[in-house]
Amino acid sequence: MPRHLIRAHHYKNVRDSDGHHISAGEERALPWVAITPVVNAIRVLERIVPKGELLFSSTHHDLVSQRKHHGALKRGTLDRRVGNLVSWIKQESTAQGLDAQMVPEYLHGNLGLSRLRRTLAWHVARRPGGLVALAIQYGHMRAALDARTSAGYGNRGRRGFHGELDVETALAAAQTAARLRDAAAAGEKISGPAARLALIGATSIPSFEGALTTPRGAAKFLARDGLVLFDNPDFFLICAFKRDTALCDPDPGATAPNQFACLLGCGNAVRTDRHARAAREHADRLDAKAALMPQPLGDRVRLTADRFRDLADAHDSAAQPAEEAIA
Ligand code: SF4
Repeated sequence: MPRHLIRAHHYKNVRDSDGHHISAGEERALPWVAITPVVNAIRVLERIVPKGELLFSSTHHDLVSQRKHHGALKRGTLDRRVGNLVSWIKQESTAQGLDAQMVPEYLHGNLGLSRLRRTLAWHVARRPGGLVALAIQYGHMRAALDARTSAGYGNRGRRGFHGELDVETALAAAQTAARLRDAAAAGEKISGPAARLALIGATSIPSFEGALTTPRGAAKFLARDGLVLFDNPDFFLICAFKRDTALCDPDPGATAPNQFACLLGCGNAVRTDRHARAAREHADRLDAKAALMPQPLGDRVRLTADRFRDLADAHDSAAQPAEEAIA
């Protein structure tokens, strides 16, 4: 997949060494990594506005109510446009008979810009390999955000999207911990080099209750290296993320793994009986697919299925009850 880097300026809180605001802004320290549809959308915007103009300039995009305003589109207009996008999705999914693609009704009013941002954060935090998260796009986005923080650009940076991403990540990790606690209480066995640490992490959650809904509380929660648990259903494991032993090459200072780049044999991996079952079921599905494929291709898929079965077998032979794993 081609990668595009988007460079841009930012303006808010940009100051010189004497603390004076620099109105010309400065180039962002890290570029955004984008996939082709995003780049295409930017190319279209560049044709709508004159050269050198803001891509979302009020003058060129909001001809009805803001044409006398300078600068970028205002919040109210963007909220309306998010609403229009939702209406369009509803209309298209009805017309195409794609009910599952429908945007659900909201109990708390319209989906504005901030809730759309929160929705994106939810997907980045909980579906690192999912359709919306677009593994590469947002996996790298998280890496970029974490690097930005560790490089010192995040002093004010855990606000906005960074803060929401932390909150969603912390809430998702807390749910993973609660599920692991429940599984252990229900007698499921656990395997993996990080099993003990994961169980300790899972039992420490109650002391954070209530603190995870603020960016500051969430960042503190996520900074507990080795004790924060990330569900990784694509690789049939829970990751008790410890930076120094991670094989997925996290940036220095990262508080979350690069789940899309998870590697077999990592010392942070933990599995329960549920993961072993899911890996076997996945292997069976792959075998069923392989039976319908031409032989060379089918053989490759069968090899992958065998790898998942091996992984489940390794769990079965090493797994211990939680009380023994934590001892
Ligand atoms: S490679 Fe290790 S640290 Fe990275 S996601 Fe996989 S288990 Fe976690």
